[in-house]
Amino acid sequence: MIIMRDVCKWYGNFQALRNINLRVKPKEVVVIIGPSGSGKSTLIRTINRLEKHQSGEIIVDNIPLTDNVRNIEAIRMETGMVFQQFNLFPHLTVLQNITLAPIKVRKRKKAEAEAMAMQLLERVGIPEQANKYPAQLSGGQQQRVAIARALAMQPKIMLFDEPTSALDPEMIKEVLDVMKELAYSGMTMLVVTHEMGFAREVADRIVFMDGGEIVESGPPEHFFHNP
Ligand code: ADP
Ligand code: ADP
Repeated sequence: MIIMRDVCKWYGNFQALRNINLRVKPKEVVVIIGPSGSGKSTLIRTINRLEKHQSGEIIVDNIPLTDNVRNIEAIRMETGMVFQQFNLFPHLTVLQNITLAPIKVRKRKKAEAEAMAMQLLERVGIPEQANKYPAQLSGGQQQRVAIARALAMQPKIMLFDEPTSALDPEMIKEVLDVMKELAYSGMTMLVVTHEMGFAREVADRIVFMDGGEIVESGPPEHFFHNP
């Protein structure tokens, strides 16, 4: 579903990604761990061209990521992204946040988009918040809206960049539970997180980055040894 071959990325003279080779299969959940500054966020952001890589090859669902705008748009349609900061539109209600892209980009009818948004809000456990504004919600609720918004575009792949790092501890579980449900429903997921419990329980494979490189990759058993 995602293929990265010898991907390199520089910010000016600083090399943030060094010959990244990574494959994510359909329905696979891959968790990326590693110290701060190791390139985790950069890696995930190259996949939908939020950051541009300078060499190597990225292919997402058989679409090569080139400078071709149509390819980039096609890849963005297939990849839902969830950020550390929820990035909701503050002046739109929860329902409007979720229906905006389906109506504008997928050309869905408003009623149809709203019905789907309500189903997604049920799925993430906050249907009663549909007509609130983001600022009226807790961080955990906002992040669940962000997940619902990404899912509303019916992506084939979900990319998560430290989705719980900005949350108070008591809200982390509610977001991880939604991600777990998504993983068990068969979504293909690439997740940057520091939540080792999630990695151990949910990941099919864990990738450990350091200094812009993948230094280890394997199943959770490889990283967590039972005493
Ligand atoms: P991580 O997600 O593992 O914390 P990042 O991918 O955010 O790491 O960053 C990797 C390295 O690239 C860090 O040293 C960071 O300072 C640097 N970096 C990230 N974004 C930029 C940028 N826009 N310009 C210059 N350097 C950057
Ligand atoms: P994260 O916690 O997600 O790794 P950071 O705190 O490293 O993010 O970076 C936040 C923002 O600042 C990002 O957009 C990143 O691209 C940018 N950034 C990070 N390091 C640098 C840097 N050395 N020079 C310029 N921009 C940077």
